[in-house]
Amino acid sequence: MNALKINFNRLMQELEELAQIGRDPRGGISRPSFSLPDLEARRWFKQKIEEAGLTFRQDGAGNIFGRLPGNTDQVVLAGSHLDTVVNGGRYDGAVGVLAALECLRTIKENRLCLKKTLEVVSFTDEEGNLVGDFLGSRAFTGQLAERVVKNARTQFGHSLEEILQKAGLSTESLLKAASERPEISAYLELHIEQGPVLEEEGVPIGLVTSIAGKRYYQATFVGKPGHAGTTPLELRQDAFVGLADFTLKATQLVARKYYGNTLTIGRVILKPGAFSIIPGEADFTLDMRSLDADSLRAMEEEVLALAADIASTRGLAFYRQLVDSTDAVHLDRRLINRLAELCSALGYEYRLIQSGAGHDAQILSAFCPTAMIFIPSPDGLSHSPEESINPEDLEKAANLLLQALVALGSE
Ligand SMILES: [Zn+2]
Repeated sequence: MNALKINFNRLMQELEELAQIGRDPRGGISRPSFSLPDLEARRWFKQKIEEAGLTFRQDGAGNIFGRLPGNTDQVVLAGSHLDTVVNGGRYDGAVGVLAALECLRTIKENRLCLKKTLEVVSFTDEEGNLVGDFLGSRAFTGQLAERVVKNARTQFGHSLEEILQKAGLSTESLLKAASERPEISAYLELHIEQGPVLEEEGVPIGLVTSIAGKRYYQATFVGKPGHAGTTPLELRQDAFVGLADFTLKATQLVARKYYGNTLTIGRVILKPGAFSIIPGEADFTLDMRSLDADSLRAMEEEVLALAADIASTRGLAFYRQLVDSTDAVHLDRRLINRLAELCSALGYEYRLIQSGAGHDAQILSAFCPTAMIFIPSPDGLSHSPEESINPEDLEKAANLLLQALVALGSE
């Protein structure tokens, strides 16, 4: 193996610079895609790409690329995303993009001429702040349905078209992004684990074998509002009691019959929402995940049937709308083995790991050989201002990424 190493201080310095963009007075970093801070981060990243002597490119989905040409046009792609959730952390997404940039810069500075072209990528709206997760990588791989984006409204109240136009894009350009794509021979993504496993075991590197699939519903129990003092308990159609009953029974069902899968009700809005009025409506999000596609489908069916059943016994109506759906994927065996060999050669301890969180890699894996490198998330924290990393872990993972890019770029 060559003795190449990334410039780790430069990488840490750039993470620090990026963390200043979108700092939120309410805590952490807020850089949803195409918000003013995101646009600023995009300009900053473009400048970094150009300063590194890489070729800047942006596609119709606003995905940003920095290219280091090789002897052929076949591309080995590495990156992640620069957008964040509202009040998010400084490492989710950012480490994958900036480590890949640092790798390409190191390869260029050392005048290594590879057979394949290398590209760093930052995908648009991985976090799904606009219209569901992975907008950019779905557009890039041609997996974006027209019905999802045409006339779509975002959680911020504006139409998607309006938001895209402010960034010089359109739903039309979004749907055409896949046609501008070069030939991709592999995709690598470095990311924080967002869970506690690696830290718990004291292992610096996780090689991801599979990524969980997800069903995300926006759902509602509808009952009847009434006066809290005058309506006897037995005459109530309390939407919140229905939801509470459902939450407990659904969680028990998953724990009993689908152990290892997850079910989460993360946001609840009760209406009319006054202390003295029986809730006539309970709007909630329902998130179900599994590393097994069949198990996810079966769980989804049973949980939805349970909700309908509870609604009918309690005199409520149950409505749901599927917002987002992905299936579990297995990442590329050959690439995982390659990364494992490189870890051994570098003297880095690693373990195989599954990802319960979704990633652009999941979308890319349907389309090209894909692998992911995880580093530990102290306390398992992510999507939080307290999100952190151990710098030594990042240094190892970024050097692993560097060696992997050189190896795959030489094939
Ligand atoms: Zn992420």
